[in-house]
Amino acid sequence: MASVGHVIVGLAAGRLWAGGGASTSQLAGAMVGFSALALLPDADVVAFAFGIPYAHPFGHRGASHSIVFAALVGVLVGLIARLRGQPQPLRLAALCAAVVMSHPLLDAMTTGGLGVAWAWPWSAERAFLPWRPIPVSPIGAGFLSERGLKVALTELAQGSPLWLWALWPRR
Ligand SMILES: [Zn+2]
Repeated sequence: MASVGHVIVGLAAGRLWAGGGASTSQLAGAMVGFSALALLPDADVVAFAFGIPYAHPFGHRGASHSIVFAALVGVLVGLIARLRGQPQPLRLAALCAAVVMSHPLLDAMTTGGLGVAWAWPWSAERAFLPWRPIPVSPIGAGFLSERGLKVALTELAQGSPLWLWALWPRR
């Protein structure tokens, strides 16, 4: 995975969604929610605990890193929002799908591991983008290491325009 890069996307999406009129707690809630969605595809690391290999369609960077998965999450969140009578369920669905899809896009720009199964269920082939400027992050506890820290700092620098905008004080 990329690491803090996903959270940066979540922060920016939260700021975008909350807009200018939201309270600080609404803004913080949106940022936390969208960050969770941006990280959601990596819940697939539980596959390792079940003995599912990395390269399996349901292994790490498999089905949960596909366009179909992102679209399903968007539809699900939009439906829940609509049922609960929340405003702009379609806009929320589109933003959620985009945030979840940002995850495999970022992963596909990393320098290591296997590629992402973006075309699942039609194809289980793993793919990277031609441009891969993001150093791959260690998985799990390995993230809390010197290499993990270096990767996180690199992503902070690469994503600085986005998180600076997201965290810039509001008037
Ligand atoms: Zn991932």
